[in-house]
Order: sequence, then structure tokens, then C-alpha cells
Amino acid sequence: MRAWWVGRPGAISTRPLEMGERGNPKPKANELLIDVSVCGICRTDLHLAEGDLPPRHQHVVPGHEAVGVVLETGTNSSTFQPGDRVGVAWLGGACGTCPYCRRGDENLCLAPVFTGWDRDGGYAEQMTVSQDFAYRIPDVFADEKAAPLLCSGIIGYRALKRADLRPGGRLGIYGFGSSAHLTAQMAIHLGASVFVMTRSEEARSLARGLGAEFVGGPYDVPPVLLDAAILFAPVGDLVPVALRALDRGGTLAVAGIHLSDIPSLNYTTDLFYERQLRSVTANTRADGHEFLALAAEIPLAPTTTTYPFEEADRALDDLAADRITGSAVLRVRPATAHNEAEPFTSGRGAA
Ligand SMILES: [Zn+2]
Ligand SMILES: [Zn+2]
Repeated sequence: MRAWWVGRPGAISTRPLEMGERGNPKPKANELLIDVSVCGICRTDLHLAEGDLPPRHQHVVPGHEAVGVVLETGTNSSTFQPGDRVGVAWLGGACGTCPYCRRGDENLCLAPVFTGWDRDGGYAEQMTVSQDFAYRIPDVFADEKAAPLLCSGIIGYRALKRADLRPGGRLGIYGFGSSAHLTAQMAIHLGASVFVMTRSEEARSLARGLGAEFVGGPYDVPPVLLDAAILFAPVGDLVPVALRALDRGGTLAVAGIHLSDIPSLNYTTDLFYERQLRSVTANTRADGHEFLALAAEIPLAPTTTTYPFEEADRALDDLAADRITGSAVLRVRPATAHNEAEPFTSGRGAA
């Protein structure tokens, strides 16, 4: 099969990703073998290619927003059948026995397995996933619209929960990429007013189109104090900026897996009056299932740019240079009647 893998991590301009042929994966007893149709492109893939996240093994295949069809099931796998459409997300395994797993916080597992970091991901024609960590994709989403939901969407949903946004509250969003544009749609659906601070003019125009009350530059001060804010841009300098924009008792959630250093904070101006600063670490499967149900109910409308399989490195270069508005998606298999940009209407569980 054809696959992309991380060769020598480094600046994306040095072409750290390599494409070539490698052997087809084989599903273990509790795994599914998936024929990948599309895979969303996440900023984490860029951090991995550039070495901000050290590769967990040599020549790992990136990609943790994969959508495809089950080709084969392992001997102990009965949850899915060949032909089922499934999604594969970032959390690819958890130990189930550590104190965090046992109390329901598997996102904090001591021995987690991440797709496209610990195990090979979806920048390949085939991949395997543990059946317990695969998701059914709601029929309302075509493959390329479903892909960004699997990380951008789920993480945005968890960040929204971590930000403790009250009903009808005022939410600030710093940075407006793939995850943020989905989170804004969720927040507006839940009755919030949304204030977007971001750099690119295209992203600002998307934010206005989605119904943001206010759209400004990254360091602009929103016209009202915020009940909650989410920092999506991987820029630590924005932490004090966002904290100062919060109302008393407000919460700032930092959504990214990687953040540049945070400058020193002043307790009085940045934190006092019970403002809170929280991180967001991966997600639980429960978050994923809750989110996909909400996404279908709204339904979320991801803005996507699709790249042919051969251009994964160009897609990451565009992501690094802020040239992508909304979500980027890698088309792994040519579009067919089942996976082109139309709602999925056949297969098990379809209406
Ligand atoms: Zn991701
Ligand atoms: Zn665990």
C-alpha cells in the first residue's frame, strides 16, 4: 500500500514526510483493518513532522482523523462487520486499569496509545484500529466532512466543556482554524455569543459568516467581558491576553497539545477574581460519542479543503503558513458514489 511517514523530523520546508510503498497491516484479534477513504489533517501532524512532538517510533504514519470502510475484522472482533463505515480518532487505546482509566478519565491514562503517533495512522491506504476505539460515523456526513470531526470536532467539544461556558454565555475564541470553526458552531447552537480573535482575514470572514458577534485580531480586546474562552492558537503569549478578557469567575481552556511558553502572569490583573486557567488533554471515548451525536443533530458544517494523497506535505506546508481556512482533508482513495461529498446513504445502519 502507499503511505506517508515521518522521515527526519524538521521544519516542514525541509520535507520531513516521505511517501512510498509499505506492507499492508494485519488486524490483531480485537482489531479492524480499514480501507482508508480520507484522513483529516491536524496541527498535531505538523508538530509531529516538525519534531515538536518527538516520534514514538521510526517512520510512523501520521493521521488521526481517518474515515474508511472495514475490510476485515480480527478473530475477536464482532462490534463491526466488513463494509461498515468507521472513523479513527487520536485516542487509539487506553490501559483500562490505571487509576485515571478506572475513574473514567481515560484521556489521562498512564499508558495511552495515540493514533498516528504510537501506532500508524491514516495517511495510508490501509490501517488498523482497536474495535473498541473505532466510531460509527453518522450518515448525515460525507467522508470528507466527517474527517475533521474526529479530532478537531471532538477536541473542540471537550475544550468547550472544560471552558465551563454557561447557557447563553459569552465565549471568546483565540485562533480560528479547524477545531475553532467547529466549536463556534456548537457554541452558537447552544445559545452562546461568540467573539473571535484571529490573524488571518479568511478565517475572520469565515467567523463572521458563522455568526460571530465580534471578530478581531489576535490581541484585540473584545467589546464585552467573556464568561469563557478557548485558546486554539499554539501561542503562549495569548494566555495573559485571554485571561484579562475574562469576566470574574471566567475560565480559559487551552485546547492545543503544544503551546509556546507562557509569559509570567500577574496574579492581580490575570488571575484574581477566580479566573481559571485549564488545559485540555485528548478526550475520552464518551466525549467522542456525545460529540458525534451532537454534530449530527446540529448538523455541523465543516469548511473543508481537500488535497490529493500525493500532496500531504503541501497540505502541512499550507497549514504551517496559515493558508487553510477551516479544515484540510487528505483524499486517500478516489471519490466513489459512497464517499464523495454527498451524505452517506448506504451500508449498515442507514435509513
Ligand atoms: Zn488532532
Ligand atoms: Zn489507563
